[in-house]
Amino acid sequence: MQENALSLPGPPPTLAVDTAFAALLQPGAPLRRLADGCGWAEGPVWLAASKSLLWSDVTGNRELRWSEAGGVEVFRAPSNFANGHALDAQARLVTCEHGTRSVVRTEPDGRRTVLADRFEGRRLNSPNDVVVARDGSVWFTDPSYGIEFENEGYPGEREYGGCHVFRLDAPGQDLQVVSTAFVQPNGLALSLDERVLYVVDTGATHVPGGPRSITALALDDRRRAGPLLWTHTMDAGSPDGIALDEDGRLWAGAGDGVHCLSPQGRLLGKLLLSERAANLCFGGPDGRTLFITATTSLYALDLAVRGATG
Ligand code: MG
Repeated sequence: MQENALSLPGPPPTLAVDTAFAALLQPGAPLRRLADGCGWAEGPVWLAASKSLLWSDVTGNRELRWSEAGGVEVFRAPSNFANGHALDAQARLVTCEHGTRSVVRTEPDGRRTVLADRFEGRRLNSPNDVVVARDGSVWFTDPSYGIEFENEGYPGEREYGGCHVFRLDAPGQDLQVVSTAFVQPNGLALSLDERVLYVVDTGATHVPGGPRSITALALDDRRRAGPLLWTHTMDAGSPDGIALDEDGRLWAGAGDGVHCLSPQGRLLGKLLLSERAANLCFGGPDGRTLFITATTSLYALDLAVRGATG
């Protein structure tokens, strides 16, 4: 693990599919490698209060934190094979844990509150990624990776028999099923108006020729998955995590780096990386830095567009 930013020669190679893509980039902005040495970097989240970036090294069973001032430090180890993160409106950390098969909240004093670990009395599989809506509801995906691959969690059974997308409206309430339509739901995001849910399906890991795609679903009055709006299959590898910018574009990890899609699911351009990118988030002092967790490394690139704010 490097303690300081590793300088790369300059900007990452890019591939513009749409002429609008160039305007999203800061000319000459270098790609910075902020950390390396991870086994499977995932789940980045920007912590504005401490001007730091928190992420998971899933297979390393640890969470790490980077800041300009302090470099890289271990945040929690072991991390219960933590994966995706989000912050709620009070800036409390919400974490998906494969090892405990739960979604947990970290209180300001460090105590853990289990938000969700069961559906209809049966244990969840291995929550993967999470977002918190403006009303405080917690949306997460529950694929089976963390109970099937022993370097990502502990072996176990799919107790409720599926891999659902869930919503928790308030702590202590029953989980609501948002969708059962995905093979292995993974990254997720809500549109800026929170009327559309974007879900990554990485089901190709389990079904030959299966999905490696992002799907946009309109939400109905009960905030369950309604009509399918579009599906975009990646042309390089598989997506995993997604993040929205201030104009509702989707930035997604992929096999060859980061893909940027229009809100209608059309590929606008790519940031090409030498490592597969699993997940990403916006952050930094002005919200224009894209942090990318890419296999062994954490990268940062300053863009000309801000991340979406909740
Ligand atoms: Mg994921």
